[in-house]
Amino acid sequence: MIDKKPFEIARETLKQLTVRKLAPTPINYQRIYSEIAGLPIEPPFPADRLRDIAIALPTKTPGQQRQRGLLESSINNLNWDGVKSALMAYGGFSPAAPEPGKAVAGVPLVDAVKPATPIMVEPDPAPAITAPALTSDFFAQIARLIDYALPAMGQDDERFLEQTHALTKALRQPNADAVSVKQMLVNYGHRLSFAAEDQAEIKNVLLKLLHLIIENISHLSIDDGWLKGQVDALMEVCAPPLTLRRLDDVEQRLKDVIFKQTEAKTRAVQAQEEMRQMLATFVDRLAAMSQSTGSFHDKLEESARLIEQAKTITDIAPVLKDVVGATRNMAHDSESARSELQSMKKRAETTEAELIKLHQELDRVSSLARHDPLTGALNRQGLDEALNREVSKFKRQDSPLCMALLDIDNFKKLNDTLGHATGDVALAHLAGVAREVMRPQDTLARYGGEEFVILLPDTPLDKGIEAMTRLQRELTKRFFMAGTEKVLITFSAGVAQLAANETGPDAIKRADQAMYLAKRAGKNRVLGA
Ligand code: GH3
Ligand code: MG
Ligand code: MG
Repeated sequence: MIDKKPFEIARETLKQLTVRKLAPTPINYQRIYSEIAGLPIEPPFPADRLRDIAIALPTKTPGQQRQRGLLESSINNLNWDGVKSALMAYGGFSPAAPEPGKAVAGVPLVDAVKPATPIMVEPDPAPAITAPALTSDFFAQIARLIDYALPAMGQDDERFLEQTHALTKALRQPNADAVSVKQMLVNYGHRLSFAAEDQAEIKNVLLKLLHLIIENISHLSIDDGWLKGQVDALMEVCAPPLTLRRLDDVEQRLKDVIFKQTEAKTRAVQAQEEMRQMLATFVDRLAAMSQSTGSFHDKLEESARLIEQAKTITDIAPVLKDVVGATRNMAHDSESARSELQSMKKRAETTEAELIKLHQELDRVSSLARHDPLTGALNRQGLDEALNREVSKFKRQDSPLCMALLDIDNFKKLNDTLGHATGDVALAHLAGVAREVMRPQDTLARYGGEEFVILLPDTPLDKGIEAMTRLQRELTKRFFMAGTEKVLITFSAGVAQLAANETGPDAIKRADQAMYLAKRAGKNRVLGA
């Protein structure tokens, strides 16, 4: 029998089905076929039982519906592998690797267990559970990945932290069970997606709050030009995408604004209090004066009446004495009122002088703030701080740091021909273009009148020169208008890469020397130091 060819076995099987009066079902066919071919007779395929199971499975999501379809068709085809794959997919597992040459119904992981949100540990399309790639090393790598990502998820959700801890612990077990680890990963992915959404939402809300605060500050400071400029710059800086560098900028600017606001408020309260006191004294004096003039007036009337009635000079004498006394009192009152008013005037003048002094002090202090009001770039103080930060980062990370010093060409001529105000616009224009062209991690500072320093972290010399040349090109494209006149500005620049044992200011000095050489070489060029 074993020598028979498959078509002969098939023909014989059909014949036996008729002879034995068996129904031509796939089960009967398979049994007779195996018998004739001498193959081991496998237990009948429990199609009906499996169909009962299939019917009981949920079909709420498209993924579940698809898996149910695949399961049913596998049952109809008596395909054990298909059934197995479909059922595993329902459970959230990838099907095992098919044996070579053996067809398996292509069953992707069912999305029944997939959360609505996108962050999820996606199964490998390749066989996952039995693949040799799932070594403990691989699991440890996932654990490390989770450890790295954890700080971004916040520390408030204790349940989530516990789950993370349990998962990373399981991943680090020397002989971790792939199936249970996989299930833990699926569950964790689900929770992680919510945690990530929460964090994104928190970030959005915080950003909105920041905008609200800044907007509010701007409403409080409508008549202070300096503050208004700073607030506008703040709004611009805290627009997404946010980077740590930009947030740092926001923080510095906010500190400046808050400082100035506090000073302004103290100043206003103080002035108000002075004025209130002076007004109160003035009103008191006025009341006292009108009272004394009133009684003086009454006294005079009374004296006039007595004089009229007087018959002898002796009658008049005491009246005159009274009048003289009242007049003296009146003169004395007037005199003290006058001197009091004079001292008040003096005090007002002193207060005014103090206010002017305070104002000057404030202007001096605001120069200690970190930003230049005209261009919004960092000032020298801000540059010093940024330089310290970048240099210590350079030492920590050993990544190249470049500094460029640029000086506008023929700026004096521009001032002379178009006016100082246009010169100011040119400075602000250059700073604006530089900010747009630079990367967020770069720092722009006004070094002097028409000189700027740009700090370029993670940048070797050739790239630094490239960046400055790009800025130069951009400036030639973007002129600005002074009335009807197109104003084009060019600059000369020197770029220095910080050497291992060099200080920040020394590198800037080298960049300055290179800038000077660029001027000597004909201006409008960038030279490396
Ligand atoms: P070079 O090409 O050699 O750099 O010549 P330059 O004219 O640009 O350089 P110079 O140093 O002779 O002139 C710089 C001018 O910049 C002089 C100063 O009046 C002007 N300046 C400095 N600060 C400001 C400012 O805030 N606003 C304006 N409008 N001009 C300024
Ligand atoms: Mg100069
Ligand atoms: Mg110049």
